[in-house]
Amino acid sequence: MAAAEKTADKNMGGARAPFYAPVSDECDIFEAAERHGLPLLLKGPTGCGKTRFVSHMAVRLGRPLYTVACHDDLSAADLVGRYLLKGGETVWVDGPLTRAVREGAICYLDEVVEARKDVTVVLHPLTDDRRILPLDKTGEEIEAAPGFMLVASYNPGYQNILKTLKPSTRQRFLSIDFDFPTHDREIEIVTRESGLDVSRTTSLVRLANKLRGLKGQDLEEGVSTRLVIYCATLIEDGMSVDRAIRAAMIEPLSDDEDVKRGLMDLVTAIY
Ligand code: ADP
Repeated sequence: MAAAEKTADKNMGGARAPFYAPVSDECDIFEAAERHGLPLLLKGPTGCGKTRFVSHMAVRLGRPLYTVACHDDLSAADLVGRYLLKGGETVWVDGPLTRAVREGAICYLDEVVEARKDVTVVLHPLTDDRRILPLDKTGEEIEAAPGFMLVASYNPGYQNILKTLKPSTRQRFLSIDFDFPTHDREIEIVTRESGLDVSRTTSLVRLANKLRGLKGQDLEEGVSTRLVIYCATLIEDGMSVDRAIRAAMIEPLSDDEDVKRGLMDLVTAIY
């Protein structure tokens, strides 16, 4: 449970929604899903705004949010809860999913395919019209409180057959396909997040799009909006453009010296 609890972050309403620039009609779809208690799957590459979107929508809708960053050791018990020894007594402690189900909160499972396979077993009865969470260990069967919503994300780009969602799971969710923001939208986001001026941000976004064009040839993943923001932040902080690009937009993409040299040549050609 420790790992899931550490990353479970509960966010109560009342705060100002974190900045999120919509790319399409994703806010409308989220609102409709929340209204009807339907589960939602966010598909897309890493660093393209999925987590920010969920945080934004939770605050905007005034809903508490439990976020769990899934990893390959995360089990159903980490989500649901387990018996723990406390002061000589064995007590049941709810996991983040169970708390969200009881309280009628939003539960966001980030990178759900990373989790162990037994996780899908607890998700299935929650993602159909039963909306129940059976707790085998306690014998309880919890009906999701009104307002409970399950949101999950995954990156279909990773070509790992063992780490894709099975159709029987995927078909239980409404889905939104995320991609990197459009050129102008990304300039707006990077400028706002880093504080760097528009003209220098524009050049970085242009470079990012060129690098994304190489995905599939030399690169497994295109450069994320997150990395472009890191790069702009370093430049705004006074680092030379060359060093910032190398640290934030080249090194994170590849470990292959030839590939990195090729990428730097592209940078030189653009700047
Ligand atoms: P993901 O969950 O898809 O891996 P994040 O939500 O963590 O990605 O996005 C990484 C960073 O990119 C965010 O912290 C935010 O600064 C920025 N970002 C990406 N897309 C947007 C957007 N549409 N609006 C605002 N910020 C964005």
